[in-house]
Amino acid sequence: MYNKYDKLKTIFVIYFTVSFSCIASAQHLSCSNLFSKTEIQLEIADKNFVDNKTPKNLLNQANQMLNDLFPLLQLPQKVTIHLSPLSSEPTMEYKPEQNLWNIYIGERYFFNPILKYPTHPIHSRAIFAHEFGHIAFNYSFLSKYNQFKEYDLLNAEYSKARKSFNQLHTPEGRPNPKHYQTSEEFDEAYQKYYALTRKTEKDMNFYSNLIELSEQKFANRKLTTLKRAYDELFADTIAVLFTSNPHAISEALKFTAPWNIYTRQLVTDAMVTNPKRFYKRTRQVQDKRDSTLNNRDFDSRNKEVSDDFDLIGSENYHSVFAETRDFLWSHFLKYSYYQNRKHIVVKVLLDVFLSEIDYYYNTILSAPTETKINQINIQEMNDRLQRALSQALTNI
Ligand SMILES: [Zn+2]
Repeated sequence: MYNKYDKLKTIFVIYFTVSFSCIASAQHLSCSNLFSKTEIQLEIADKNFVDNKTPKNLLNQANQMLNDLFPLLQLPQKVTIHLSPLSSEPTMEYKPEQNLWNIYIGERYFFNPILKYPTHPIHSRAIFAHEFGHIAFNYSFLSKYNQFKEYDLLNAEYSKARKSFNQLHTPEGRPNPKHYQTSEEFDEAYQKYYALTRKTEKDMNFYSNLIELSEQKFANRKLTTLKRAYDELFADTIAVLFTSNPHAISEALKFTAPWNIYTRQLVTDAMVTNPKRFYKRTRQVQDKRDSTLNNRDFDSRNKEVSDDFDLIGSENYHSVFAETRDFLWSHFLKYSYYQNRKHIVVKVLLDVFLSEIDYYYNTILSAPTETKINQINIQEMNDRLQRALSQALTNI
């Protein structure tokens, strides 16, 4: 989740600090006891990848989004948007130790570095809204689940412990994360490595502390995995509401995909070195990408989803609620009644999602037995969610 954004390489850093007041436009709900100010800071690592209009546009978008979609939600006091020089996937980051909320968006969402022209702002708008949706969702989620806040701190503590252990011992035989399918398998291998390496009493204490941390981490991971599916649906819905376009996310991802932007360079390099492999790889990547994009579209009939949670890889948290995306658009979001009440829709969605997470967590996941995340059926998750959404959205 953490973006390897290297501050040392920063050439230009520009700060824009803008404050927005909460304007309550809800007819039935009051805004008085909710947030009053969110500060948005923008950091641009390399201005060669951003045209002159982008910073101003982005801050205007943030202003509009806060007022149109979020007047009824609690948000962090400060959010920093980093226009990252990397072409990596956009991401949201929460740093619990310093209570920092960051959004990283790669340069390719603003500027095509090969063809040297700005990317259409409609795509950066969707991506930005999606990441901001994550911020809003996680802020409320963390307020509700304090244990998860501890989990984030625990994660930080665990990686720190692992790092200092690495400094004490030789890298020989140390497991490499690349060789493991899941982080659980990697952690298990790592624990075995610790067990073999411990020699002194200091090592022994260190080891038992690490095992304990690691076990707590696994227990909390079930909640994280469950949460991610709702989190991604919420973020995509924010993008769709903000752009009033059911294809906002699938189109943004399609037209800013690295193989679209870097096509000339990649095609030339790969075709020369290994043409056979190039065609096979491109086909595979494209097929996988197309099915993921269809699953994230709010108006597409070509969805492919598995029944069990365990068949869904970590990249596919996005696909769990593929069916509910179409349901939301065709029954509610496409109608002007809901388009005119976006801020209430957002609040209703958040409340319903959190109560669904609560249901699964309290009735299934917190059970002390061997209950696994894959015992949760995806169709059932969709059915339950759609029933709850119908009820809540029909009454606004
Ligand atoms: Zn996301």
